[in-house]
Amino acid sequence: MKSLATRPLATRHLATRHLGIDLGGTNLKWAIVERSDERWQTLDRGEQATGAADGPDAVVERLIGMGRRAVAAWPDVSTAGIGVPGLYDPEHGTTRFLVNLPGAWAGRPVGPPVEAELGISVGLINDARAFGLAELRLGAGRGARTLIGLALGTGVGGFVAVDGQVLLGHDGTAGEIGHQTIDPDGPPCGCGNHGCLEAFARADRIAAACGTGSVESAVVAARGGDETALAGLERIGTYLGIGIANMIVVLSPDRVILGGGIAAAGDLLLDPIRAEVGRRVRTTSLDRVELVTAKLGTWAGAIGAAVHGAERARATTTAMAPNGANAASAATTASGGARR
Ligand SMILES: [Zn+2]
Repeated sequence: MKSLATRPLATRHLATRHLGIDLGGTNLKWAIVERSDERWQTLDRGEQATGAADGPDAVVERLIGMGRRAVAAWPDVSTAGIGVPGLYDPEHGTTRFLVNLPGAWAGRPVGPPVEAELGISVGLINDARAFGLAELRLGAGRGARTLIGLALGTGVGGFVAVDGQVLLGHDGTAGEIGHQTIDPDGPPCGCGNHGCLEAFARADRIAAACGTGSVESAVVAARGGDETALAGLERIGTYLGIGIANMIVVLSPDRVILGGGIAAAGDLLLDPIRAEVGRRVRTTSLDRVELVTAKLGTWAGAIGAAVHGAERARATTTAMAPNGANAASAATTASGGARR
């Protein structure tokens, strides 16, 4: 029986491998990442349809099957993480509310059944925080100390990283930059509030503002000089700039990352964001804040979930020393599934 607590320090220098799965509304993606000291690399990856309409039981069975195949191909995988598109309970490994997945996901165990089948520890993380963790360790966020980011997709996900750690908060919801109020009288948001950044900058509203059917065609139209699309990006960039300016005055980040399909518009979107940020931020020097686009594309969620599983397991190991609240909560998290 291998005890994590008594592993010699020397094992830190050995490479370890970790599975990540991104539970998306359309596709399930997996990735195997390797950690060697503090260097990370992606070794393998793949995807299949989620089949979300079949309901939670079928989707969890697919997660298990995907995990089994990945672990069979990479037998030395030691931990797993699952990125979920919404709210979850980190202590029990259950989902609370998944925006784009039909069926009874409230209270549905997701981590424990996968953990039981694969025989390795499994941690859940919100998909936008997984995106942030991936970009922080392997992508556009490397080397940044304080970092914020937005994942512009069906919704607007966000993350905040301080001193090299993505903030999760007590329930995994820290960093929901997309749900800050930008306009108190603004349009309704899927979260129940009005005038959130997401209510302006989610994919369907960007497409509508640009007079196109999708974000992809909005990018093509704007690049082709279409006036409506350019004005739409200008308007969306203004709202994004307000949201980002709010975050900059609170956190003074050294880098801001934009990901998701619309980030392909590049400077057509970044320029109006920079202009709005420049109009609003008066407290810190913007010369020291970089605005960049994400690097890892649609695989960031799976990669970041793998990183989360790895770092969560290490935090649990570190916390095995008999002191502090972290030790208790980490141990509860790790064994939450097994006790039921
Ligand atoms: Zn909202």
